[in-house]
Amino acid sequence: MDYKNFWLSILRRLEPTISKSQFLTWFQNTAVLSIENEILIVGTPTNFARDWISQKYAIKILQAAEEENSQIKEVEFDVDAALGDGIDPRTIELKKVFAKPADKKVYKARGREEVVLTRSGILSAKLNPRFTLANFVPGDENRLAHAAALSVSRAPGMTYNPLVIYGGVGLGKTHLLSAIGHEVLTNDPNKVVAFTTAEIFTREFVAASKKFQADEFKKKYRDVDVLLFDDVQFLENRDKTQTELFNIFNELHSAGKQVVFTSDRPPSELSAIVDRLRSRLTWGLVAEIEQPNFHSRLAILKSKTQERRAILDPELLEFIAMNVSDSVRSLESALAWSIAQTDLLKTQPTVRELARMLGKINKKDRVLGLPENSPEIPVSTPAEMIELVAKHFNLPTEKVCGTSRKKEFLTARQIAMYLAREILGCGLAEIAQNFGRDHSTVLHSVRKISRELQKNEALVRHVNAVKKELGL
Ligand code: ADP
Ligand code: MG
Repeated sequence: MDYKNFWLSILRRLEPTISKSQFLTWFQNTAVLSIENEILIVGTPTNFARDWISQKYAIKILQAAEEENSQIKEVEFDVDAALGDGIDPRTIELKKVFAKPADKKVYKARGREEVVLTRSGILSAKLNPRFTLANFVPGDENRLAHAAALSVSRAPGMTYNPLVIYGGVGLGKTHLLSAIGHEVLTNDPNKVVAFTTAEIFTREFVAASKKFQADEFKKKYRDVDVLLFDDVQFLENRDKTQTELFNIFNELHSAGKQVVFTSDRPPSELSAIVDRLRSRLTWGLVAEIEQPNFHSRLAILKSKTQERRAILDPELLEFIAMNVSDSVRSLESALAWSIAQTDLLKTQPTVRELARMLGKINKKDRVLGLPENSPEIPVSTPAEMIELVAKHFNLPTEKVCGTSRKKEFLTARQIAMYLAREILGCGLAEIAQNFGRDHSTVLHSVRKISRELQKNEALVRHVNAVKKELGL
């Protein structure tokens, strides 16, 4: 659950019932620390605040919490001194959030998307409500992009401007971009945030030009505080639209307004973007999002499972993390499938069913990590083990089972022999035959690896990684 938003919705219920000064005094620097077993745990910066709030407001808080989420049955208070430093990301800037929004209205634009009309009459397109910072799982693959997003949303226009986030499909660019928008608006609802994509921007620009309304188009974007521009690579070869964006960018940038772009490539590789715009893209910070590793994939799956309030066997999650590695979007579809199965059939899919489904989604020839002693165990012969080890070390199979004494081939070969013996339980003769060696060579290799595993950490890591692929 997104604790920050949850706390905000509770505070919105409390605020009208408490005097403004009391509200600001006591609820500044508070946060939801966690929700455990139907107990809402609220953090305060000091003992004094804890005692005061729990005496005066516990019942109101509980009522509001129950109305927001009927599962909550109790509320507890806990001191967390870090909340008091005024910049803790779990806390909400009450002064700004609860400032009187002087002339701000929300209305529906002809049943289309919801838009926010602010002071100056500028539109903030509705952001995807799921794409928040709290829902974004940080990991090695997005460390810099995530930190930059945080920094930019705390102080738009002040740190990295523009911020460019780039990376492959389905790795979280749009999510992070939208999260910046949410965060900026949470910190200060009077800010004007525009979220657009290269495609929408182009379409709007072309339509406006046809109607000789280019000026109005420009005005709309010129008045924003934060411009979030998704998939800038789609502007390639659209020179007029690029010029328009270039001009808007210059105006915003020189007025200290924040611009954030996403792209599927680093700016230097956007060859069909005109030089002057491309060079602007590198003025601030360029941060890459890479493919998540196993560890991050598992963390993302766990977080998404919680977000959907589903409960799935940890084994299933690990199995998905092991087999789905191309993008977070594919992870989500595998997860959605498992949850749907569980909901509809009232029983969790077996690893085998999941494997069959993943084979369809991923078109993978081999599914990793099927349970042991199953007839479809992915690797059962020395030849398959050689292939798996070769794949792990990124070496050609022929070299691994060939005769080269080069160290990398030799080590991979000995590991494959060792695993064929220890994991698959193959006979020495059978292994020897697969490698075109005699059985004393195999025996020597197996013993050597067993010995080395006692002291060589790198080797242990390699062997464990291959075992992991086998679901061991
Ligand atoms: P992109 O724009 O890079 O193609 P998206 O931002 O649309 O990718 O992300 C695809 C899906 O994966 C979204 O549903 C998003 O919520 C999810 N996602 C990607 N990265 C993460 C992450 N680090 N934590 C949580 N969800 C993520
Ligand atoms: Mg996207």
